[in-house]
Amino acid sequence: MRQTLVAGNWKLNGSLDSVKQLISGITAGEADTGDTQIAVCPPFVYIPLVANLLADSKVAWGSQDIADQESGAFTGEISGAMLNDFGCTYAIVGHSERRSIYGEDDDFTARKFAAARKAGLTPILCVGESLEEREQGITEDVVSRQLDAVIKLEGIAAIGDSVIAYEPVWAIGTGKTASPQQAQDVHAFIRGKLAGLDQSVADKVQILYGGSVKGANAAELFTMADIDGGLIGGAALDADDFLTICKAGA
Ligand code: PEP
Repeated sequence: MRQTLVAGNWKLNGSLDSVKQLISGITAGEADTGDTQIAVCPPFVYIPLVANLLADSKVAWGSQDIADQESGAFTGEISGAMLNDFGCTYAIVGHSERRSIYGEDDDFTARKFAAARKAGLTPILCVGESLEEREQGITEDVVSRQLDAVIKLEGIAAIGDSVIAYEPVWAIGTGKTASPQQAQDVHAFIRGKLAGLDQSVADKVQILYGGSVKGANAAELFTMADIDGGLIGGAALDADDFLTICKAGA
């Protein structure tokens, strides 16, 4: 039985005050979230603060990105070892905003996935198709290609130690959620593809859905057979909304 994981991706949002308030709201309500696993991914600079504030909480934390390199002349980058120094459990890799705005391709994402694993972090690997790709009927090809780049570099067993987030790009930050059945279809495709390579990996890996998840639609999404939780953007910035989503997974 896979546990439900709800991870908040705060993106480029927050301030010292708002981070303190948000974490205090989440920790005040975490007792009512049953056995849902919870994580937050703040901007890098707030990770030490969040680590301190969450010291006595069940809520884990992670980064929104990670360098593909370990150290050296890579200005502006943050390594897996640095994230480990601040107790990160997770590192998001291949978020569609990294892919589309910053031009990070499948191979680069795979190297980031490898860097996270090497540092002992659990990568949250984001995959998903654009609206054009969905309309062209190539959703499965796109998701397959994104997964294959990682499997080629790291092997199928590595997927078993990671989290996958299926995030249709057309549903991120747009208010358009994939219907539970649309999401389930792609999740089932992903799990089926993995099962073709290694059944135990397919059974074990948590596959999250991301794209305009809110308190009002989370429960319906999370009851689908292959949806094991959510990667949450906008709604993760409000403690009550985020907790409602966490409770939906309990
Ligand atoms: C995300 O950033 O991963 C995301 C799913 O955003 P939103 O929930 O705002 O659509």
